Amino acid sequence: EIYCDSAATTAIDPEVIETILPFLTTNFGNPSSSHWAGRKVKEAVDASRQKIAKLLNVMPQEIFFVSGATEGNNLALSESIREYGLRHAITSKIEHKAVLEPLLKHEREGDIEISYVKLDKKGNVDLEHLERLLAANPQSLVSLMHGNNEIGNLTDIQAISRLAKKYNAAFHTDTTQTIGKVQLNLAEYPVDFLVGSAHKFHGPKGVGFIYINKRHKLKPRILGGGQEDGQRGGTENVIGIVGLAKALEIAYRDFDLIHEHTLTLKRRLIAQLENSEIGNITYNGESASEHKSLSAILNVSFPCLHIGSIVNNLDQLGIAVSGGSACSNLGNGGSHVIRSINHEAEKENVRFSFSKFNTAEEVDHIVETIVKIYNADSTPSESGVL
Ligand code: PLP
Repeated sequence: EIYCDSAATTAIDPEVIETILPFLTTNFGNPSSSHWAGRKVKEAVDASRQKIAKLLNVMPQEIFFVSGATEGNNLALSESIREYGLRHAITSKIEHKAVLEPLLKHEREGDIEISYVKLDKKGNVDLEHLERLLAANPQSLVSLMHGNNEIGNLTDIQAISRLAKKYNAAFHTDTTQTIGKVQLNLAEYPVDFLVGSAHKFHGPKGVGFIYINKRHKLKPRILGGGQEDGQRGGTENVIGIVGLAKALEIAYRDFDLIHEHTLTLKRRLIAQLENSEIGNITYNGESASEHKSLSAILNVSFPCLHIGSIVNNLDQLGIAVSGGSACSNLGNGGSHVIRSINHEAEKENVRFSFSKFNTAEEVDHIVETIVKIYNADSTPSESGVL
């Protein structure tokens, strides 16, 4: 079996497992308890927060643990709209649903109006249009992601953060795909809110963090025992938090190695696809670019098959990738991201996303398998099964 869907989630790093094991056994206290059992665990939670803050070059008081990027995005967007009475949001059509859905809810309820910034055919933000939108609507909420989860596009959040500041707007950026994968020195960016999710960088699922710039004091969203500085009540996910901090530490420690490895795999995949007999393939967004996209993501449009989708055929052969399809015989409509940037009718887009655990042999095997699928498609067997 081959797992090539690391933008969806990643395997937990063995070093992370080793670090969290004591918190599954002996270190079981409640961090809010004042006795020895609680103190020991509270120290671990505090140390984790400090570790993350140091890696991102922010203050520990600016990091709040949550259940993941979905919750972090919801909290940042909804609470800033409520707290500051913001009436206008500027976002893009290729954001993750964890951003678009909360914004649309506020629009339906009459709290805000949404403007969508123009994107070019490759999904890049038109910064001049953004500035025009900001000039017409100062004091907006800007939410534009750092790395796109489907096409891998990297956004110039430094330029966006400066524009947001110029027009007194709050800037939220969904950094779920870039935390631990792109060097991010927050001292250099006036970002107001950003999020991270541990399972995207070899940590546990169901835990993440939100960074809230110290100039904000959002109202607590989950009321209870006052945990997380009153922002989010409820006993902390200690195992998750300790695992998150360790996973981020490893991501930063091995940063160059991992980046080089995933980029090498992406180059190899592109070269193999181009040399194969498949033909008529295109790359979506900037995913084939080495500098404008995440090294770990390649999104390819393939000609439609008669024998079902490539993603399903690969799955039946033990290869996990993801995608969407505008092929009429499949009819799932494809992805909102691809639809928003280029309307390539009758194509199936497949997202390949790598991690440090993938190998060159796996890339070769994936391309060989796709070629076999196309060959079977042109000469379907009786049963239609490969
Ligand atoms: N934002 C982006 C860009 C993502 O890729 C994801 C994960 O799919 C999320 C938000 C949501 O993350 P989680 O499911 O961990 O809450």
